[in-house]
Amino acid sequence: MGQGRGPGRKSVKNKSIAVYLTIIGLLFTISVGWYVFAFLTQPKSASVQFDGQRAYTDVQTQVSFGPRIPGSQGHARVQAWMREELVEAGWQVEVQESEAMGHTIKNTVAKKGGENPQIILGAHYDTRMFADNDPNPENHALPVPGANDGASGVAVLLELARILPDETVPIWLVFFDAEDNGNIEGWDWILGSTEFVKTNSIQPRAVVIVDMIGDADLNIYKERNSDPDLTDEIWSVAESIENDTVFIPDYKFSMIDDHTPFIRADIPAIDIIDFDYPYWHTLQDTPDKVSAESLQAVGETLEVWIMSQSGQTTQP
Ligand SMILES: [Zn+2]
Repeated sequence: MGQGRGPGRKSVKNKSIAVYLTIIGLLFTISVGWYVFAFLTQPKSASVQFDGQRAYTDVQTQVSFGPRIPGSQGHARVQAWMREELVEAGWQVEVQESEAMGHTIKNTVAKKGGENPQIILGAHYDTRMFADNDPNPENHALPVPGANDGASGVAVLLELARILPDETVPIWLVFFDAEDNGNIEGWDWILGSTEFVKTNSIQPRAVVIVDMIGDADLNIYKERNSDPDLTDEIWSVAESIENDTVFIPDYKFSMIDDHTPFIRADIPAIDIIDFDYPYWHTLQDTPDKVSAESLQAVGETLEVWIMSQSGQTTQP
């Protein structure tokens, strides 16, 4: 019956099952390994981190300090608070002090990635000393609360400071002093940014200024003195995340603002500003005129743009 060969055949059969199992095991390990590798090496895509509500709270906080006129108590308080927020968020912070027109200028500079920033984001943190556009002439000698004109830009920069990851291109956030006392005797506009450009030898690829970007009815037109290529770059990012009802693709105003000294120094710079603001330089420039949604639209557009400059895509 050939019985003697039985066990032999069985043992060959067991051996081939073992080989098959080993091959299947190997294939399984390789495919799991491949998926893990593919997951870890795929292009990074994150979701928007900017929190417009938290930025809105920053507007309220600044207004609660009172007017932030250079030399005032509110000015000192907002400075100390900005420094705390920036250090807490992991930035290198310095205050650059200089003199202009007999006034002490204190620009706060937050750095990430070293001494050669590719991107500079700027906003003025001071507020105008006179509400000379107020409908009531009796209010013209009083200071403005500066919820939109001052606090909104600072709020967007501070929230970006909190949410930007470490792996971005080198960035500086600059909080300019003494922007807003033009047409007042003994003062001029943009003293802080003028001093900054004079005292820092830098060659960034892009400078983006945000000013008056918190209006609840936000319509930001392209600004005529801004670098046109950089303007188009930011506006197309806004369009790609459906913020084109806020970033309107038409030119409207020509501004003197903190981008001006950069433009004069041949550094590509733009001013993101909504100058259709009925409460400009009045006592009515208060937090109820500002909205978290408006701060969100500007903040997330800048976040997506900065991350794209850093080789990462961000989904709204
Ligand atoms: Zn102003």
